[in-house]
Amino acid sequence: MVPLSLLFIISPTALFRESIELPLHCFVVAHCPAQPQRSSHKMPPFRPIPPTPLPRPFSNSSPRAAPTPPSSRSSPSPQGFIVPRVPPPNCPLHVTAGPDGPELPRVSDSPLAVDDERVTRLIKFRLTPGAKCRHCHTMHLECDFSESGLPCPSCAVLGMSDCDFTDADYFLLNIADRRDQRFHDERRSLVAAVRENRLSPSLFDREYERSCAWFYSEAQGAITRFLLNCRATHNLAIRGYHTLAAASDDTGLLSRLLALGVEFNLHPSVLHILTERLQTVVLERIGQ
Ligand SMILES: [Zn+2]
Ligand SMILES: [Zn+2]
Repeated sequence: MVPLSLLFIISPTALFRESIELPLHCFVVAHCPAQPQRSSHKMPPFRPIPPTPLPRPFSNSSPRAAPTPPSSRSSPSPQGFIVPRVPPPNCPLHVTAGPDGPELPRVSDSPLAVDDERVTRLIKFRLTPGAKCRHCHTMHLECDFSESGLPCPSCAVLGMSDCDFTDADYFLLNIADRRDQRFHDERRSLVAAVRENRLSPSLFDREYERSCAWFYSEAQGAITRFLLNCRATHNLAIRGYHTLAAASDDTGLLSRLLALGVEFNLHPSVLHILTERLQTVVLERIGQ
């Protein structure tokens, strides 16, 4: 039975800031009661605990040696763990240029279903819940966000194909923010569990990485749902106006529709559709 002799107390200031500047303030402060040796398969499953505030470090403690940076943490010290950075280095949540245009990342090989409630919560998450899309902001219109990948109703009916809510960068920015909130909470919870002797320091990485993998499974489900939403609604209003215009050869009606379109700031591509249809009808009448 080897007593667990180290208990790490980490400065709350260093722990909760956005990007930790390693080394952290880690201190040897006390001897702890011996822990029973358990094989990993007999360990009870770790149950997340609510976050608790960290105590201040003891004034008479002495600093430990600097931990290795996260990029080289494949062989962590057997006595402890390395507090991961939030946001993580090499964040995968960004758009890349592909052969057929911008591409969203693949962040998990085990995505949750697109209708999983965790995916639904994630795709509905926004950094600034009440913010309008830029078109509604410019035109002083009401703006209603339902979920990423679906344009707001005003943009949809006005024929705007570039509502912010269908923007991939905006979507990834939102889920990256949600991820960072989650990783902060998980890190705080696990550090508290180690400090209170409810989790072996050697299991910190495993538990933290399991939580990260869960998030990226949700994120992959949300990315798939975002793409489905965009494909399903892409140019839906434009196609509708095409159908609407083609259904009439009444020049008076088409003219009134065009005038209303100008008055209501319909997208120029919609006005173009109506103008073209009007010209076609007039030319057909002249040719008869
Ligand atoms: Zn809007
Ligand atoms: Zn919009």
